[in-house]
Amino acid sequence: MSLCFFVSRFSWKHVGLLVVLFFAAVYLSGCATTNTAGDSPIGPVYGVLLDPGHGGEPEEAATQNNERFNGLGKWEKQGYREECYGAISGNGCMEKTATLAVAKKVKALLEHQDFPVAMTRSTDTYVSLNDRIAKAMSPEYHDWIMVSIHFNRSTDKQQATSLRQKYQAPRGFEIYVLPGEGQRSTMGSNAPGCMDTVNSTRSGNMLLARSMEIRLSEIPGIRDRGIRSAWFVVLRGSPMPSVLIEGGFMSNPSEGSLISSDDYQQKLARAIVAGINDYRAHTTTFAHADAILRKPSITASKSLDSDYLMTAH
Ligand SMILES: [Zn+2]
Repeated sequence: MSLCFFVSRFSWKHVGLLVVLFFAAVYLSGCATTNTAGDSPIGPVYGVLLDPGHGGEPEEAATQNNERFNGLGKWEKQGYREECYGAISGNGCMEKTATLAVAKKVKALLEHQDFPVAMTRSTDTYVSLNDRIAKAMSPEYHDWIMVSIHFNRSTDKQQATSLRQKYQAPRGFEIYVLPGEGQRSTMGSNAPGCMDTVNSTRSGNMLLARSMEIRLSEIPGIRDRGIRSAWFVVLRGSPMPSVLIEGGFMSNPSEGSLISSDDYQQKLARAIVAGINDYRAHTTTFAHADAILRKPSITASKSLDSDYLMTAH
């Protein structure tokens, strides 16, 4: 199927996205071409590596990093707490608990379809960002995709000054991909060396992100905060098409309590599985192309979670 087919059906405002998706169309049509950015072809998917964010206890993390937790200063201790626990909602739910719960539900649904799944952690244990990458680099996951699951929190210190402002605090999901060649992070953080990162799975990342965004936005009441880009360690180090989902804001009182509920976690899990299934369908047919041609909204954002996600410990 040629690119001209799509151009003839859509107005010129879609051309920018069509360029992004051009190589997907070429590869899906069976043409063995590589683009100038060294983008890998999008091929069949043989499994999903799920990466539930955070996990474990600060003492455990410090030990793995050859540090004695009790001997550390206040800020170092706080750093380890944030790395292990992640964000904490108003009702006391830790991000590490919610990410693992959602990942386990996704795993169960995919296994029900007899689709291979692996996890960077399957219990409440500390796994460093580097160890997560090391797992993603394993040859046994060649031709898989990676879905990293997190929840967000806002750094807006003004938001908590009144009850009304608390309930107007940021909410909604965001999907992160690695910036494309020559692009900058939408988070405003472009650490030295990051811009030189080779993004060899750009087409796959974008296709997976759009597949996820469409399905997640179908959850009733959820706010779509768009596809964003960041130099997160797990995205930089992953050799396969990868996305990082921030499934809602722990810092928003109502969304924070929703995130801790089994019902919301199940809805998220079903949407993630639907996104994975759509991506798998896209890799074998371009019949669903209509759905991915809406321009993704890429917006600037910054959360505390990003400080952890940007740094390999
Ligand atoms: Zn997180």
